[in-house]
Amino acid sequence: PTQTQIGLMSHEELRSEHERQSAKYAQLKAEKLVLDLTRGKPAPEQLDLSAALLSLPGDGDYRDGNGTDCRNYGGLTGLPELRAIFGELLGIPTSNLLAGNNASLEIMHDLIVFSLLHGGVDSPRPWTQEPTVKFLCPSPGYDRHFAITESFGIEMVAIPMRHDGPDVDAIAHLVATDPQIKGMWAVPTYSNPTGAVFSEEVVRALASMPTAAPDFRLFWDNAYAVHPLADEFAPAYDILGIAAEAGNPNRPYVFASTSKITFAGAGVSFFGSSDANLAWYQSYVGKKSIGPDKVNQLRHLRFFGDADGVRAHMAKHREILAPKFALVLRILEDRLGASKVASWTEPKGGYFISLDVVEGTAKRVIGLAEDAGIALTAAGSAFPYGTDPEDKNIRLAPSFPSIEDLETAMDGVATCVLLAAAEQALDNL
Ligand code: PMP
Repeated sequence: PTQTQIGLMSHEELRSEHERQSAKYAQLKAEKLVLDLTRGKPAPEQLDLSAALLSLPGDGDYRDGNGTDCRNYGGLTGLPELRAIFGELLGIPTSNLLAGNNASLEIMHDLIVFSLLHGGVDSPRPWTQEPTVKFLCPSPGYDRHFAITESFGIEMVAIPMRHDGPDVDAIAHLVATDPQIKGMWAVPTYSNPTGAVFSEEVVRALASMPTAAPDFRLFWDNAYAVHPLADEFAPAYDILGIAAEAGNPNRPYVFASTSKITFAGAGVSFFGSSDANLAWYQSYVGKKSIGPDKVNQLRHLRFFGDADGVRAHMAKHREILAPKFALVLRILEDRLGASKVASWTEPKGGYFISLDVVEGTAKRVIGLAEDAGIALTAAGSAFPYGTDPEDKNIRLAPSFPSIEDLETAMDGVATCVLLAAAEQALDNL
C-alpha cells in the first residue's frame, strides 16, 4: 500500500497501519537477529587498511628525523614530524600541537582533572573551589564528553544544535552573564551525532564572545577533521589564531586522534593549544608520564609520510563508509520518507546519522529493536545526563556492520519506528 502520513489517517486506517506494522514486527522478531548499531567503531575492513602499521617501523628503524631514539624515555611533546603532518591537516602550527598516546579522551579527561585540582592558566582559583562549575553541552552531542563532565559533578547545560553548529546567540548570552560556565564541549567538524559542520561565523562567534569566566575554555574536539564522506574536505579553521586575534589566546583546547584513521585502540592523539596552555598542561602531565609512546608515533609517521598520505588513506576509508551511509539514508527514505514519522541528518562526513522519530517514542523504538535483536545506542545518550527531553533522538552508527547486516538492521529499525508511531497515534485517539 502507498504510505500516508500517520497524522492524517482515519481511525480505521490507523488500526490497519498498526496491524500491518505489528505483523512486520512479528516477522522481524522471528528472524532472531543479533545486530549492533550502537557505537561508531571502524569496521574490520577499515582496520585492515592500516595493516602495514603492524610491521612498522620495522627492524632497526627507531630514530626520527631529529635522531631521537624513539625506544627511550622522554619527548613529552611527541615527534615533531608527526605533529607537523597533523598540524597541517588541523590548521595548527607544529609548535602548538602535541602528539600523545592512543586516546584523545584521556587528554580531555586530564584537562578537566587538572583544572579542577589546580585551575587553568587564567583561573582565579582551582575549579573545585568554585561553588558550581558548569559546561555548555550542544545537544545532541557525544555521550562520552558528557560522561566526563557528569562524573565530576560539573553541571551540564544543554544547548540546541543546528545544522551549522550550536546556537551561538543562546551561548553568548549565557557565557556573558554566568561566571560559573567554565567550558563548552564542541565537535566542530562532522559532529557526533548530527554530522553538523560549524560555519565560519559560528567558529568566530565562539572564539570572540565575551565570557564572564576569565578561564572559559572551548573543548574543541576535532575528532572527524579529515573524515569526509564525499571528495571535499571540510575547511580547517585556524581556531587558535582566530581566538588569539580576538584577544582570547587561551580559550581553545583542540583535540584530534587517529582513532578513526588507523587503529581505534592503538592510534595517536593530538592536543593543540596556546603556548601558555601547553606549558601548563605539560607541567602536570609530566608528573604522570615521562613521555608518550614514540614508537607508535614513528610507526604512524612512516605509514603516512606526509599530510597527503593521510588524505589518500582517508579516501580509502571513504570508499568503505560512503556506501554504508548511502544505504542507511536510502532505507530511511524508502521506509519512512512518506509517512512523516521521522527526520534525519544527511552528514557529509563523520561516523553517525542522527534520527529523530515521533516525539515520545525513541525509547519505545529502541526497546522494540532490542527485543528483535537489534542493538541501538541507548535512548537519550546524546544528551546531558542521558535524558532526551523530547524522547525522540536515536543515534545511528553505520560504520561497523557489514552492508548485509546494516540493511537488515536498518529495515528492522524502520519497522520499529513505524510501529511505535502507530501505537502512539492509536493511544492519542
Ligand atoms: N571525540 C569524538 C567526537 C568521538 O566521536 C570519539 C570516538 N567515538 C572520540 C573523541 C574518541 O577519541 P579517542 O579514541 O581519541 O579517545
